[in-house]
Amino acid sequence: MSRIVYVNGEYLPEEEAKISIFDRGFLMADGVYEVTSVLDGKLVDFEGHIARLARSLHELEMASPATTEELLEIHRELVRRNRIDEGMVYLQITRGNPGDRDFVYPDPHNVPSTIVLFTQSKPGLADSPLAKTGMKVITIPDIRWGRRDIKTIQLLYPSMGKMMARHKGADDAWMVEDGAVTEGTSNNAYIVVGQTIITRELSSDILHGITRAAVLRFAAEAQMEVVERPFTVEEAKAADEAFVTSATTFVMPVVEIDGTQIGDGAPGPVSTRLREIYIEESRIDAI
Ligand code: PMP
Repeated sequence: MSRIVYVNGEYLPEEEAKISIFDRGFLMADGVYEVTSVLDGKLVDFEGHIARLARSLHELEMASPATTEELLEIHRELVRRNRIDEGMVYLQITRGNPGDRDFVYPDPHNVPSTIVLFTQSKPGLADSPLAKTGMKVITIPDIRWGRRDIKTIQLLYPSMGKMMARHKGADDAWMVEDGAVTEGTSNNAYIVVGQTIITRELSSDILHGITRAAVLRFAAEAQMEVVERPFTVEEAKAADEAFVTSATTFVMPVVEIDGTQIGDGAPGPVSTRLREIYIEESRIDAI
């Protein structure tokens, strides 16, 4: 059975889905996206992802081609049609096809945006083997643009970062600017010192992770201390624990940074507990 995807109002087998070569997403990475994870066939943190999508669209002066209710319906329909139990729904909205290549934005009244959604099945998302051993990261300079708070489809540098990590036998890269860690290539970064969880504060330097918001809320509810401030690579290497968060990895322990072992080299108690709480609460709240 071929995967059913959604393109501009239609549900189609993936082989039949088509986008113009003049689409600004294709030509200029002029688009935004969201990834919502699926647990037990239900959507995790859907409202958060849609709120961030609205913000990304607003920042780029793009119109939304669908209401929140319609987007929920499309997400659910794709999960149902593709029988996704654990996995994710990817949503992308681009500035559409103005007919020619031009740097100037087309008038949104004349050129509708393009909307595409598809699913990816990922059995074992919650029961991930990597969560038991922990991830290795390297550090790389953060040379991305200055609006990292907008979730654009311009992902070449994060992709290069993952390849740099792979070439060094690591799983991912943390990006560093002015001596401090900004975030991972596709996740937010944290360290734990004593009982204190430290993560960079929100600004245009990082993506405002939906998982980050939920995890910080759960941490506060569990009476854990959270400090939002930048931290250096040296601090991270000397920390008791490190971890990352994202929609598809939830809370993932980090056990090595640039070859330096963190703590005793195994996932620490705070990261492990936060992962458990996040998955437990997400299963309850998923819609
Ligand atoms: N930072 C970056 C750069 C990301 O790409 C992502 C995931 N898309 C995140 C953080 C985590 O965000 P979320 O928890 O909403 O998946």
